[in-house]
Amino acid sequence: MPLLEVTELRTYFETEEGVARAVDGVSFAVEPGEILGIVGESGSGKSVTSLSILRLIPEPPGRILPGSSIRFRGEELLALPEERMRRVRGNDIAMIFQEPMTSLNPVYPVGDQIAEALRVHRGLGKREARGRAIELLRRVGIADPEERVDAYPHQLSGGMRQRVMIAMALSCEPDLLIADEPTTALDVTIQAQILELIRELRDRTGMAVILITHDLGVVAEVCDRVVVMYAGEVVEEGEVATIFRDPRHPYTRGLLQAIPRLGRRVERLAVIPGTVPSPTAWPAACRFHPRCAYGWDLCVNAAPPLFEAGPGHTSRCWLEEHPERRREVDSERGAFPTTVGAAGEMAPAEAYHRRAAAEGAAPPPEPAPPKAAPRPLANDPATEEDVER
Ligand code: SF4
Repeated sequence: MPLLEVTELRTYFETEEGVARAVDGVSFAVEPGEILGIVGESGSGKSVTSLSILRLIPEPPGRILPGSSIRFRGEELLALPEERMRRVRGNDIAMIFQEPMTSLNPVYPVGDQIAEALRVHRGLGKREARGRAIELLRRVGIADPEERVDAYPHQLSGGMRQRVMIAMALSCEPDLLIADEPTTALDVTIQAQILELIRELRDRTGMAVILITHDLGVVAEVCDRVVVMYAGEVVEEGEVATIFRDPRHPYTRGLLQAIPRLGRRVERLAVIPGTVPSPTAWPAACRFHPRCAYGWDLCVNAAPPLFEAGPGHTSRCWLEEHPERRREVDSERGAFPTTVGAAGEMAPAEAYHRRAAAEGAAPPPEPAPPKAAPRPLANDPATEEDVER
């Protein structure tokens, strides 16, 4: 049985521009002891997915739609009372964030902050909790932990602060650690050390890890499997080695092309043209079509399902059913055409879409998101109280 099973997760937000479908039907599973990478550009829905798992979405304006399911060790987290959910956070599932300064309290020594988690969740006494905090600081590689335990966050370097956050997350020995861009704010040497630490802790403790990042290089270093997200959906999933050897979705190919490689001289790094669209107005059918060099009319008329691309490997792209289109574009533009050509050139599916619109034959817009009542838990007064805190 998977440790965590997310099925058809939909997290929407009410905004002034309309309903933002930040996460829109996401499914994946995490096995015990596995490191799963979730990658995608900013705005693809990675962080909202992780916050939804911990039920940290502020309701309103956010809501997790009925029909979504998040099962942890077989238990439905979305149905748990808030009090029980509070025990899951920190105890069973812990989270570390990108910028430790926003999560550490600047007016308390770091040791007190680690000890607090131990006293609240594990019921340890003051002295015992301090001893354990020192031990944890040593475990995450902080030199002189007996002295550092009394340091304030501003007295530590960025790398040390991130280690403190990891120590805090590990204090209650969670079965699952969610690390949201844990190395983005760090320089490359410290980044490598933190990633090595996460892998070493997984090997030693057997905890599973969800590593959220926009960097496929980070995924290659530590993850076993990867989920690629774009515009609130999973667009490709597979073993890391498979995704790097045989990426199927044009978006994944674009991300891979954008990684600089030692020893490869290029004039300019490949870029994926354009940006992630707004979640209040996802493009019709395939959401990647305005940026895709392979698209054709099918891509703007029908949303591609997740196709089986190999054992344990899926891709949400019509090219799986129409490999001749991939061959045709590759032979015209060379393999992996991740840009759509000269500046200002329009993606082929988008050009079709605009032509059809001008002729009054545009494909129907995406159906409006379902108007659903918030989950009953949103009315739980404890939820609001928790969010405020
Ligand atoms: Fe989407 Fe079509 Fe491009 Fe595949 S080929 S990513 S379905 S636009």
